[in-house]
Amino acid sequence: MNTELSLSFKITNWCNLRCAHCCEYSGPSEPATFLPLEKIEQYTIESIHMPIKPNDYLVLGGGEAMAPYMHNKPDYIPKALDIIYRYGYVPTIKTNGTWGDNDAKREQILHDIAKPAYEYQKLVTLDISIDEFHNNISGVSKIIYNILSNPDLCLAIRCCIVGFNTKKSAIALSKLKQMLQNQGLKISPINYSDWIVFTPNGDAVYLVVDYSAGIHDLGRAKDKKVYTSTGKPTGAISCLQIDNNDMAIYNYLTKEPVNNRPLNEVLFSLMSKQIKGY
Ligand code: SF4
Repeated sequence: MNTELSLSFKITNWCNLRCAHCCEYSGPSEPATFLPLEKIEQYTIESIHMPIKPNDYLVLGGGEAMAPYMHNKPDYIPKALDIIYRYGYVPTIKTNGTWGDNDAKREQILHDIAKPAYEYQKLVTLDISIDEFHNNISGVSKIIYNILSNPDLCLAIRCCIVGFNTKKSAIALSKLKQMLQNQGLKISPINYSDWIVFTPNGDAVYLVVDYSAGIHDLGRAKDKKVYTSTGKPTGAISCLQIDNNDMAIYNYLTKEPVNNRPLNEVLFSLMSKQIKGY
């Protein structure tokens, strides 16, 4: 049994994309309902008092985590980030980055996520998949370019580009690299994977580039969901996820409704289910 735990909020199952491999079965026809901010605050407070306290890195995911901006809820992400920071966590936002193609949305979102990072003096991470399944290279390149050309954003936002250890993912990554170079940026690989991206005038941003994950499950491309493509439950860190239907999910394997029970009770119930193998 892993003792390190991470906490994650799957805020919606709505997504503007419908990737073939999506293990969350997300897509544009899913209801655009969101985990209420009151629940995010309640579970965040409860989590810091649990005997197994989650590590510092709290994830906001989906579906598309920036979906509230596409459904007239521009306050949702700033308020969620404020809750996460206020109780001592460091946020990671999982996004497909397609909003980077919309100039107004890109400006607004990058400003909104950088602001609390400054206030709480802790970086916010944007975790973006570039692989054979997502059609998002144009938007992601604009996000990176925008961050790099604004020193205030550079100091507040950390970008993490992730994909699979497949040839097709490597091709998608090289297309992103080419697009950034076409915008006049220079890329220096570090440690055989991560990049430092430079502007012509010498400003630079560090990009985490992680292509170590294998594909363990093809999501909706297969009949049966076992666990997500990138989250292998035998990994070093266990994961407790709460979704927009108030369902608690442990290691992507076992789940049950929270039903107004203390989060700690739900976690131990899920852990014991997993030990018993159902
Ligand atoms: S994999 Fe990500 S971007 Fe693709 S449909 Fe699922 S949630 Fe959306």
